[in-house]
Amino acid sequence: MTQNHKSLTIGWLYPTLMNVYGDIGNVKVLQKICEWRGIETKIINLNVGFDYKLLTTCNLLLMGGAQDRQQEIVAKDLFSKKENLKHLIENGIPGLYVCGAYQFLGNYYKKSDGQIIKGLGIFDLYTQNLENTRLIGNIIASSELFDKLIGFENHGGKTYLGKNIKPLGKVIKGFGNNGNDQTEGAIYKNSIGTYLHGPILPKNPKLADFLIQKALENKYKTKIELKKIDNQYEKEARLIIAKKLKVTI
Ligand code: GLN
Repeated sequence: MTQNHKSLTIGWLYPTLMNVYGDIGNVKVLQKICEWRGIETKIINLNVGFDYKLLTTCNLLLMGGAQDRQQEIVAKDLFSKKENLKHLIENGIPGLYVCGAYQFLGNYYKKSDGQIIKGLGIFDLYTQNLENTRLIGNIIASSELFDKLIGFENHGGKTYLGKNIKPLGKVIKGFGNNGNDQTEGAIYKNSIGTYLHGPILPKNPKLADFLIQKALENKYKTKIELKKIDNQYEKEARLIIAKKLKVTI
């Protein structure tokens, strides 16, 4: 089956508060690469106070990063939708959760002042920011599903994975989840948590395609093969970062 005449609704969680270091680019990339393949997209902005029922109209979810202050504002609202989001994630809705959003999916985020922002407990992980150092810079990680993942990270929180979750990749250069165990991000069902901003999707077309493919397969209940598109610019962007970090990709 081709993806002609298909459509996707993308729910963008907290676009005004959770959107740093270019994360808005993830939305733009998904729109554009869908357009090139003739897939119609509708973006729904899910701001604080949104009606939880809107979540069930979404085929794909995106949430970007933020600093602690914005995370605190979002926490209460997000928590009130915990069961709805958990249900969707457990049932395989694809999603991309970057940095602060990724931290939210875990059990908790302990801030540098010791205060805890409760997490949704969907991903088996926790995050703490105890050393007051930030993990900043370009990063490359290798991933079984998506080749080399390339992005930019900037976080104070260090994330530690539990037994019930797999890392998204293994750090080659950069810090990843915590700067120690070489893990980067996490993958659970079709949900991706990652520290990679930049934004991540323009430089990682395989990941962008995965999200679209899974969203279409879930919606249309059939196997989808995405039309190939030209990734020349993406390849060049990847090579520039790889060269900077002296990594062969
Ligand atoms: N506030 C979090 C931290 O510093 C998230 C940062 C981010 O999303 N870039 O760890």
